[in-house]
Amino acid sequence: MRRNVSVCLIAAAAAIAGLGMAAGLGTKFAGPAAWAAAAPAGVGDGKLRVIAFGAHPDDCEIRVGGVGAMWAAQGHHVKLVSLTNGDIGHWREAGGPLAQRRTREVQESARILGTTVEVCDIHDGELMPTLENRRLVTRLIREWKADVVLGPRTNDYHPDHRYAGILVQDAAFMVTVPFFCPDVPALKRNPVFLYYGDRFQRPNPFRPDVVVGIDSVMEQKLKALVAIQSQFVEGGCGGHEGLVPTDDASRKAREDAVRASFRQRFAATANQYRAELIEIYGQDAGKQVKCAEVFELCEYGAQPALAELRKLFPIVRP
Ligand SMILES: [Zn+2]
Repeated sequence: MRRNVSVCLIAAAAAIAGLGMAAGLGTKFAGPAAWAAAAPAGVGDGKLRVIAFGAHPDDCEIRVGGVGAMWAAQGHHVKLVSLTNGDIGHWREAGGPLAQRRTREVQESARILGTTVEVCDIHDGELMPTLENRRLVTRLIREWKADVVLGPRTNDYHPDHRYAGILVQDAAFMVTVPFFCPDVPALKRNPVFLYYGDRFQRPNPFRPDVVVGIDSVMEQKLKALVAIQSQFVEGGCGGHEGLVPTDDASRKAREDAVRASFRQRFAATANQYRAELIEIYGQDAGKQVKCAEVFELCEYGAQPALAELRKLFPIVRP
């Protein structure tokens, strides 16, 4: 793997170290004892195990932060993974210090959401659908013992988003193949793979299979997003000096603007998929949902019927 940045951002490094990211590159082979030692907490407790992938330290938080918090509140195990370290995602800062800053930001978001987070040490803007990265994603899904895997669709303006989508798709079958990455046991059951909602139309538009009202956790989600200051308060790679708060009053004004903008965005999602919300929640409750997140079932991986798929989600009818 490329390890040009001095920081090692893989939060589960300790768990993985015994197996070694390098194991797939060489001949080192970890035995069953090492596998048992690396098993994440909560395996076998009957709760769902969900792993979500994004290209950058903020993608998962935007796309599935609400549903992630709802799952977590129900005791399910949710991990958000950024496949790059975000080290060019700012107009003024870059490199290792920015990668470290962004990792701290999503760690704070995870604390707020009740989720787990991992930031992989791959340069921002340079994610490629390589065999090495296919192995990385396959191992992450297996190590989490995932029942549900989420990722972006492969239609997107940003190459890292597209390739994150490709990498998750490429792992969708390989997670079950025992002699692909034999250092981490293959999953016995293929997880359900889902895409985040998006607005892209070509070559095919997004299909809203599951729409979830997130009003009960909206404040929590907004707090988690505001914690990602480098991106949303300071504007990320498209920002400028004028966005940086200089005192308490300007900070409050800026953070309020960020909250309002995100609230509007997820309200637009609810309005766009109002018919599906009414179908899922019923007439009255469906009409009342203010903010929503939306997902599409991927054709790869397990293929539950729509009713079964929706049961996996924290759809709470009032
Ligand atoms: Zn992104």
